[in-house]
Amino acid sequence: MGSDGVAGLFDPDRVAVVGATDREGSVGRAVTENLLTGFDGTVVPVNPNRDEVLGEPCVAGVAEADAEMAVIAVPPSLVVDVARECGEADVRHVVVLTAGFGETGAEGADREQQLREVAAEYDLELVGPNSLGVMSSPTGMNATFGPDAPPAGSVSFMSQSGAFVTAVVDWAKDAGLGFKDAVSLGNKAVLDETDFVRAWGDDPDTDAVVGYLESIDDGRAFVDAARETTDDTPVAVVKSGRTDAGAQAASSHTGAIAGSDKAYEAGLDAAGVLRAESVQELFDSARALAGGDLPESDGVAVVTNAGGPGVMATDAVGDAERLRLASFDDDTVEDLSAAMPDEANVYNPVDVIGDASVERFSEALDIAAQDPDAGSVVVITAPTATLDFGELGAMIADAADDHGVPMAACLMGGDRLADARDVLRERGVPSYFDPARAVAGLEALAEYREVRGRSYPEPEPVDADRERVREILSSVEERSDNRLGVEAMEIFDAYGIPTPEGRVVDDAAEAQSVAEGIGEEVVMKIVSPDILHKSDIGGVKVGVPVEEVGDAYEDLIARARNYQPDATILGVQVQEMIDLDAGVETIVGSHRDPQFGPLVMFGLGGVFVEIMEDTTFRLAPVGADEAREMTAEIDAAPLLRGARGRDPVDLDGVVDAVRRVSQLVADFPSIVELDANPLVATPDGVRAVDLRLTVDPEELES
Ligand code: ADP
Ligand code: MG
Repeated sequence: MGSDGVAGLFDPDRVAVVGATDREGSVGRAVTENLLTGFDGTVVPVNPNRDEVLGEPCVAGVAEADAEMAVIAVPPSLVVDVARECGEADVRHVVVLTAGFGETGAEGADREQQLREVAAEYDLELVGPNSLGVMSSPTGMNATFGPDAPPAGSVSFMSQSGAFVTAVVDWAKDAGLGFKDAVSLGNKAVLDETDFVRAWGDDPDTDAVVGYLESIDDGRAFVDAARETTDDTPVAVVKSGRTDAGAQAASSHTGAIAGSDKAYEAGLDAAGVLRAESVQELFDSARALAGGDLPESDGVAVVTNAGGPGVMATDAVGDAERLRLASFDDDTVEDLSAAMPDEANVYNPVDVIGDASVERFSEALDIAAQDPDAGSVVVITAPTATLDFGELGAMIADAADDHGVPMAACLMGGDRLADARDVLRERGVPSYFDPARAVAGLEALAEYREVRGRSYPEPEPVDADRERVREILSSVEERSDNRLGVEAMEIFDAYGIPTPEGRVVDDAAEAQSVAEGIGEEVVMKIVSPDILHKSDIGGVKVGVPVEEVGDAYEDLIARARNYQPDATILGVQVQEMIDLDAGVETIVGSHRDPQFGPLVMFGLGGVFVEIMEDTTFRLAPVGADEAREMTAEIDAAPLLRGARGRDPVDLDGVVDAVRRVSQLVADFPSIVELDANPLVATPDGVRAVDLRLTVDPEELES
């Protein structure tokens, strides 16, 4: 006992409670009481004003406690000094319960900063402040001021909300979920979700990690830590507080769609972390994941003694993205036919019928579970007079042990099924009332199976003229505006992303001569940082015959002036026509998220992007495989593959463009957002015909 690092917070031999007191209703009393109940180690109350607390002898300062960990419950103004005393006394594990820090305004934020500095100076593993505390079941340590310790088990739990910890602990007893460690993260001044994900990844007694998070502070660090952990320990989180803050300020399509939730989605996915939509789903997943067995296929066998619930389970399997009903082989069907009465259904879902005994149930379950396509099994039972439910529960648990196939039980009843529920809880087989929840639990296993099978190759390098891009981006420094448009199209050339022939010109005669060099018809666009969406003001003319280019030039300038008299007009772009009829307008974009850094988006493009919102996000940069997944993921993917007799587009070209844009934004932190919209994909190749990007001048390298 007494490990180093973050793990040391969960197995100290001696814990000092600084601010321990007898005063009723105080945090200092509650945590001391909890620690004195059931903790294998020693509790040392620290309080200079008392000789004993709750009958235990008290010491005056943390230096006299000879402890490995300190729990701090003193008034806010004293916390920083106490933390320093801990550092001086070489007590490196510190849990700050005291509130009144960053959550309360400027003075508190200042105090939190001081606490952070002390922690850095003494290399403290510090939880909180404003934390409910930490718990660990192997030593019976409840260093929280919550009401109860949780049941013991193999799930480790972190929560950004302290109230949520008490709620879950209370509920876990009924739900049959047991915990190894739990931590209330509080304000995360020092240790945050990344530290605990990493620590529990190295903990042999943690079979699954679950988190209730409101934010992830350093998205990329979290991804790195979680990737390592999820290699052999599943991680599931609920991320609450889905907001689209930030979307309002966006001036690109990608920024408008991105919001913060897309970043979390992309980030958690990249991390291999399962995301639950609700707290119930989180713990349903946790119960399934803590079981240990993983499905070997996505096929689900259903064994039921009631037709209706069997249909419900079948529907839930159909709705689950990653699961399908197992298709039994001939041997399985034959064996079931021989073992079951004539009225039984021997195809999946197997119906053993209402009069089934435990023996018949057991036979059916054994036969179904050994089918090669049965990756997991749902066993459903409704109350009947023929069954002893304690026996049934034991039989299901035995089958789960014997077959090593994940099983979920649906006990569709109340008190009559209590015996089965108790046995299953004891034996670690998840049970639910609702078949949909049982299936959701199994789906979490299937998802985790996919995560386990992943590898994370480095994206292929992109050859690019980075110097040229740097110059173009720096051009915003001479402008009053930090947005660039088609005048910066050379960025695409520098990164090997194909573009149509074209140039920006600033007089009609020049427009004419550029057009003559391009072809019989051209596209003309107004170029102005003040005009975000050119076609909205009639600033894009498609199919202009060469002889009309001069007039079109004047008309475009007039429109822009009319729209905004003081608009900065850089000129008009004269561009080669692309045959849109043969292609699909796609969008490749990027948005820089404050937590997760640059994201790359791919989707159905054109002027209606926000209306369609058929898009998908990843953390940038992506490699070719990931880019290909993106192109397959959008609803409009069949259009790319050639719907209704059309030729498929150059998918390799699309993949390459996505990959290159993602590298571009990863290479240049000054690119805040970027749209390549449309990137026209045709059977003969892809071409980026429009560009808009926003540059953060502060991030430009000199
Ligand atoms: P904006 O997005 O600012 O309105 P775009 O350059 O994207 O301006 O042009 C708007 C639309 O005009 C495109 O979505 C596309 O349908 C069409 N378009 C633009 N450039 C071309 C081109 N070179 N060839 C064919 N169609 C084009
Ligand atoms: Mg556009």
